[in-house]
Amino acid sequence: MNKAKLVAKMYKEVQALDKRLLPVTLLQAISASVKPFVNIWFTAKLLDLLEASAPLATLFFYIGIAVALNFVLFFLTGFLDEYAESLRGLLLDRENRKMAEKLYETSYETLEDSDFKALVHKHDEAAKSRWARFPYFIWTTLRFLSGLFTLVISVVIILPLLKIGFTATGSSFFERPVFLVSLLGAILLMAAMILAAAVYINRSYLAANEAYAQLDRIFYCFLDIFGDYRTGKEIRLYKEQPLIDHIATEKILTEGEKTLRRISMRTAKTSSFVAILGAVVGFGVYLFIGVKGLFGLFGIGSLVLYCGSFMQIINGIMLMANTLGKLAEILPLADCYFSILGKKSDMRYGSQTPDLNGDFEIECKDVSFRYPKSTAYALRHVDLHIRAGEHLAVVGRNGSGKTTLIKLLCRLYDVTEGEILINGVNIREFSEEGLRRLWAVVFQDFQIFSVPAAHNVAASDRYDEARLHEALEKADCLARIREMPQGAETYLYKDLDPAGVEISGGEAQKLALARALYKDAPIVILDEPTAALDPIAEHEIYSRFHSFVQNKTAIYISHRLSSCVFCDKIAVFDHGRLVETGTHTELLQNDGQYAKLWNAQAQYYR
Ligand code: ADP
Repeated sequence: MNKAKLVAKMYKEVQALDKRLLPVTLLQAISASVKPFVNIWFTAKLLDLLEASAPLATLFFYIGIAVALNFVLFFLTGFLDEYAESLRGLLLDRENRKMAEKLYETSYETLEDSDFKALVHKHDEAAKSRWARFPYFIWTTLRFLSGLFTLVISVVIILPLLKIGFTATGSSFFERPVFLVSLLGAILLMAAMILAAAVYINRSYLAANEAYAQLDRIFYCFLDIFGDYRTGKEIRLYKEQPLIDHIATEKILTEGEKTLRRISMRTAKTSSFVAILGAVVGFGVYLFIGVKGLFGLFGIGSLVLYCGSFMQIINGIMLMANTLGKLAEILPLADCYFSILGKKSDMRYGSQTPDLNGDFEIECKDVSFRYPKSTAYALRHVDLHIRAGEHLAVVGRNGSGKTTLIKLLCRLYDVTEGEILINGVNIREFSEEGLRRLWAVVFQDFQIFSVPAAHNVAASDRYDEARLHEALEKADCLARIREMPQGAETYLYKDLDPAGVEISGGEAQKLALARALYKDAPIVILDEPTAALDPIAEHEIYSRFHSFVQNKTAIYISHRLSSCVFCDKIAVFDHGRLVETGTHTELLQNDGQYAKLWNAQAQYYR
């Protein structure tokens, strides 16, 4: 995106996130840039009054106004600085909230996309770095505006001096306009050099930031590794510390320090160069104003006014130059932010809402599917009919396409070819909300969140006590929840509440099952949430669950055939194809793929 357009878009975004911040920043810049001129102007005025032997009352009048103005301006800048700082902090929260909402709305397909994942990772890194994008951008804006206003005010003040400078008072170099022209030329040259130096220095800062970020990453990674009880076991038992120490010494103490030292040297050299130039220009300015003063072209007060203002010009230029370099740092991060927010989903939903009290039959008609950016088909020509109320087992080896089928049924992805019908209606015809209500799924990689147990089960902070009780009881975890300090309101894990309760993997599994039962959706799917359990425990959970969802359409996935014997129908997948369907007995009689798998596994169960 064009840089100017991106900057405009950032202002629009900031304004949308918080209406107060831009006006406050503008006021802040105005008061900050006016402040030094008040004292310069009043000092000059007082000197003029003294020179003209003005009455004491007049002198005190001006002193009084100067003191009052100083008080007001100091108060105003102090207040605005604090206020703007807190608004910038809030801006970060608002920005993060908007991003979180966007990520929640993003389609699953996009979320799994590797390019999108890279964008989100980059965004996260930026959010964790010392400076976050929008608050930093506003701070930079403040510096730029302060610089600009300072420059404008100074130029307005020294305008009369320019008139004097362009009028020859004599024949020497210092008395002719050529002196002023040379001086202005020197200032322009200096401005250009400051600009170049600022960009150069900022590039060093960028490199330094990158180096810092890399060090941060390594350190945080260590903190994660050492602080996590899950890795704690291995690190201790295998004595892995030397391995990590080695990386630490090599990366942090050697490479990292070298980079930072190089950058510091470069920055120091450039800064001194700019300082020398500043001294030369300053000397020229004093000389010019001094010479003109000597010729009696203006009084001592104006001398102070002009000197002060000239110096502020340099200040203003430096402030502005600095910000231009900073933009180079901010723009790529903003681009990343807008790319994530602008990501559109290709998935279109219809308007039909299914009647949740009815029966549901599901039909896959010649369904084939390829994951985006993948050339191989994960499912090929699948024809499958699940009658209303039927309990279907989907079995097959790892990678045979079982989970992919579930993702398609729930419309986390759209089929590449063929169609999926629910009660004869293509699932694309249903509204998103309607479709979500149809399914209760427990995935293999189910998640239990660090919120109260009841909120986990109800998937909401509001819930029905009786329904919760029933779901927990059926999932065989009511007793465990009851013995927690706050019952179902107890926080799980310790991320959000230090008094939270750590639950075991098996307990988490039961809560995930309770969540599916609580939802009470007409179609239920268990996608191997029990893979970590032994076959007997899995069999128990599956048959228990089976009895609770008797009246619903249900799909059970497992690569252990013993868990699925009780189902009305078994669908066997192999390399993305549906190779057999039938009851357990029928399939054994067929002596095909199922019989082969069954016989191979049965020896372990005998
Ligand atoms: P199963 O559930 O039977 O173990 P899956 O449905 O998970 O098998 O996977 C079927 C095939 O699709 C596998 O070859 C797997 O590598 C591939 N696959 C799964 N998820 C993705 C994905 N997000 N992107 C690309 N390929 C995938």
